[in-house]
Amino acid sequence: MRLSEAIRAGHKGLRQSYTEYERTRVRDGRIVTVGVCALGSANRAMNRAMASENKIWPWADTHQENLQCAVEGCTDGARGVTVFDLIVHLNDEHHWTFDQIADEVQVLEAINGVEQGALSSGDTKTPARAKVPADAS
Ligand SMILES: [Zn+2]
Repeated sequence: MRLSEAIRAGHKGLRQSYTEYERTRVRDGRIVTVGVCALGSANRAMNRAMASENKIWPWADTHQENLQCAVEGCTDGARGVTVFDLIVHLNDEHHWTFDQIADEVQVLEAINGVEQGALSSGDTKTPARAKVPADAS
């Protein structure tokens, strides 16, 4: 499963959480998950333990020189981050929805030539997600 598909698939019935991988509550004496961030959603879709995304999608864990936040005017999205860093940034700082984040990841998958979910190497091409200047006209 691709990372973008997993982000869309794993959060069914759960709220989106911010700055937390997984939000839990105690109900009837049991710990239940009530919310996840975008990466938590992806891990749930794969039935994997939290924070195992770097093993499932290693291509998204490599630093990419031209990667930056696509939100106009955002100065926090430092260049040269990983796709995972960008996902966390979009989730926590901009509160993008699961679908918005998945759409962005889908673009990055296309740029990186990702066909399946798990590529075995960090064989990434140079992505280019250029910001559109506000005064482009
Ligand atoms: Zn940003």
